Amino acid sequence: MSKNQTETPPPIEFTGRIARVLLSLIEGTTKLLANEDTLQKQLKETATVIKRGIRVSTATELDKLIDDYFERLILEQKFAGGEKELVKTMVLEVIETIRAMMSSSGDFNAGIDECTDKIQDAETIQDILKVKDYLIVEMQKAREHSNALNEELEKHRVATETLTKKLEESEAKAMVDSLTNILNRNAYNLKIGQLVHEFKRYKEPWALLVLDIDHFKSFNDTYGHKTGDKVLKSVAGTIKDSIRLSDHVFRYGGEEFVVILSRIDKQSTSNLSEKIRKAIERDYYVDGDKKLQVTISIGAAIIGENDSETSLFERADKALYQAKENGRNQIMVDV
Ligand code: GH3
Ligand code: MG
Ligand code: MG
Repeated sequence: MSKNQTETPPPIEFTGRIARVLLSLIEGTTKLLANEDTLQKQLKETATVIKRGIRVSTATELDKLIDDYFERLILEQKFAGGEKELVKTMVLEVIETIRAMMSSSGDFNAGIDECTDKIQDAETIQDILKVKDYLIVEMQKAREHSNALNEELEKHRVATETLTKKLEESEAKAMVDSLTNILNRNAYNLKIGQLVHEFKRYKEPWALLVLDIDHFKSFNDTYGHKTGDKVLKSVAGTIKDSIRLSDHVFRYGGEEFVVILSRIDKQSTSNLSEKIRKAIERDYYVDGDKKLQVTISIGAAIIGENDSETSLFERADKALYQAKENGRNQIMVDV
């Protein structure tokens, strides 16, 4: 009985039905496989053989379900491919942003280019993830590079600051007379220009005094240059102590000084000049058992509309000459 059953060929309708289902499965699988795949070729050939040898039944509900199933699989496959492209584009955008941020670092740009190439060639999401690790290493390098740059910049900043400080110090030194510690002729030249300019603008008068120690040559000759230096220093101090904070004193050269008295008229110019002269006259310097004294002569001029730095100084210097001519140890105000 069983032998009989195996030998009896299955009904044609049944074989055709199986063939239909098989063909549906083969067609679906063939569509899923990539073109030129060996399996795809063999399946196609098998389908042809089946179609030739068997009368295939017409499609049933089951074949439709099989078709739908493979359609869905193909759609999902396509979507996965599209998603990969999207991830690639996003990663490339991130790389471009990093490149723009690190544009100054040549070494890092080479690494970035390599990342871009790798992303573009990536076949799978796994390939893209590998590039991510590479990118992290490159970014670490860039961070170290930028730290080194910052350190370098900080060194430069400190060096510049030190240099600026030194320059300011030497500039300040260039303005101060080393013997008397008051402002020198360079400082005077700077200040006088500024003051003349201010007068033209604000019309607030001030006076220029030229002070000169009397017979200082013979003082030096008698007591020596060293003692002369001490006296010069002391005279500078006394002048400074006799004027207001808003006034200025300069060592113009040798035993000559210039004083600027701010916001003043003729009367107060005379009074203040007299005050300075008397203070010097009162001072004395002890040298062994001797009490040494010096006097000064002062010529003064008050700035006027038509004055320049030179004309004002000349008027004060002429007044000084007059004071000397009149017997020294006195003041003369130019009118
Ligand atoms: P006059 O009353 O006419 O001003 O006479 P003077 O002797 O003061 O004037 P003169 O111009 O003939 O001489 C100025 C002297 O000032 C000459 C110099 O020995 C002295 N002198 C100038 N600078 C210094 C200095 O730095 N130290 C010392 N010790 N003396 C100085
Ligand atoms: Mg002199
Ligand atoms: Mg003199």
